[in-house]
Amino acid sequence: MTNLNPDFCRKIREARRAAKISQGELAAEVGCNQSAISMFEQGDGTKLNDDVIAKLSKKFGIDISTGTSAPQPAPARPIAALPRSGFCPNPNCPSNQRYEVEGRSLARPDRSAADPVGGRFCAVCGEVLERRCPNCGSPVHDGAICSFCGEPYVMV
Ligand SMILES: [Zn+2]
Ligand SMILES: [Zn+2]
Repeated sequence: MTNLNPDFCRKIREARRAAKISQGELAAEVGCNQSAISMFEQGDGTKLNDDVIAKLSKKFGIDISTGTSAPQPAPARPIAALPRSGFCPNPNCPSNQRYEVEGRSLARPDRSAADPVGGRFCAVCGEVLERRCPNCGSPVHDGAICSFCGEPYVMV
């Protein structure tokens, strides 16, 4: 079976380990090769037929569609006053200082450069300023990453 939800594969692997069953034992139980279980746990279910996958799902009580449809609940929107100054959401604006952390490219908004007077438009590039996190709607603070949802303010 193809197009398996990787979350399903991961949860089966975790459940198998928690139950202290080897891949080989599990394979014998559901009727396939150990290598097929190994591939499956890596997210590749092409060596397993639907029947075997249904057995795995049933054995560990993990729904095959696990993780696909359940939408992530939105973080609670904090009720707090919006800051006087906003940030510029334009990743190419010089007011956003690019830097790298752990191979990830981020931009730290300089709100005093983008919005020295508490206006509506970026003083550097003219983009409409934001005072809320674009991801969760929390009021912005100094720094590059929202402390409520963990997403960067500026999408680089
Ligand atoms: Zn700007
Ligand atoms: Zn946020």
